[in-house]
Amino acid sequence: MKNVVLLGSTGSIGTSTVKVAGDLPDRIRLVGLAAGNNAELLLEQTRKHRPEAICISNPEKARELGKFFGAKTQVYSGDEGLIKLATLPSADIVLIAIVGTAGLKPALAAIRAGKDIAVASKEILVMAGKIVMDEARKHGVRVLAVDSEHSAIFQCLDGKPSSSVRKLWLTASGGPFRDKKIWPKEKFPEITVERALKHPSWVMGRKVTIDSATLFNKGLEMIEARWLFDVGIERLGVLVHPQSIVHSMVEFVDGALLAQLSTPDMCLPIQYALTYPDRAPSERVQTDFAGLGSLTFEEPDVERFPALNLARRAGEVGGTLPAVLNAANEIAVEAFVNRKINFPQITETVRLTMERHKTVLHPTLEQILEADAWARREAAK
Ligand code: MG
Repeated sequence: MKNVVLLGSTGSIGTSTVKVAGDLPDRIRLVGLAAGNNAELLLEQTRKHRPEAICISNPEKARELGKFFGAKTQVYSGDEGLIKLATLPSADIVLIAIVGTAGLKPALAAIRAGKDIAVASKEILVMAGKIVMDEARKHGVRVLAVDSEHSAIFQCLDGKPSSSVRKLWLTASGGPFRDKKIWPKEKFPEITVERALKHPSWVMGRKVTIDSATLFNKGLEMIEARWLFDVGIERLGVLVHPQSIVHSMVEFVDGALLAQLSTPDMCLPIQYALTYPDRAPSERVQTDFAGLGSLTFEEPDVERFPALNLARRAGEVGGTLPAVLNAANEIAVEAFVNRKINFPQITETVRLTMERHKTVLHPTLEQILEADAWARREAAK
């Protein structure tokens, strides 16, 4: 039995995690649930799974929720509440699925309390990959991937060291604007929010869906992979694979390639992270190869999607630059969704913010958070 704390239980990854826990009641117990704002869904989840502790951002809502439960369920609020949950004595693993940067401090708190962490919020590793991985080594805990690409690589590596890797190949669906004939660069300023939110193969949260359309998502994933698997960014490749069946691949030093394949469903990588090293039976994911017919691959178009090269540069330089890329992108995506800027301006905002940043090469956590705050102000301008 694994005792799991789930931070971000009402979002896209969170609700899938609750499903997986429901599938495997003999293997997974949800001992802590934290939500941002959706008190109604948190209440429903708490009634069903009876965790020891829950947390919601707003203290008022926490008081309301407290009325429903006796001493068996502690109700916390705010950032301190997240830390309480992340360090819950009974927890074996903390799955962090909070959108944005709010997961960073709870992730570090969990590691320092000796918990394994499962990372769905890629910002944590993009911003502070070195600090998080160093702390995890120091405390002897695992950092498990929930992102489908990283889970695929983790499954293919199967414990092999980074010295056995020639290259890691991250696959990308290419997003809704992959087809150059339908979406030449000249048409990018006309892209609407509604159109960008229609992802061809995955159902995901809003931020990551826009990131998939700009390919920033893949850029962030390159940096995430760099830290999770301890390979330099030069050994990370991106392949566009519109069917989203091959979730990523490892090319070993001897030339052999291993890939993990399945119908896209986040329940699979979530389940693997929570049952690792075991594989638990599940009927949820079925893959029909004959029905698929063919799988195709193509080079990413960095001309139309410059986000990939920006991320590569941030990954190469390192220090505070990846945090700046990430923060500027968050602000730009928000501005695009609120119809304040057009689609190409998302990438342009990130590029300009990165250009103006004076990178600190070996930053402390405070310096990373400062760079993050600076980039948000700068991008907003
Ligand atoms: Mg992904």
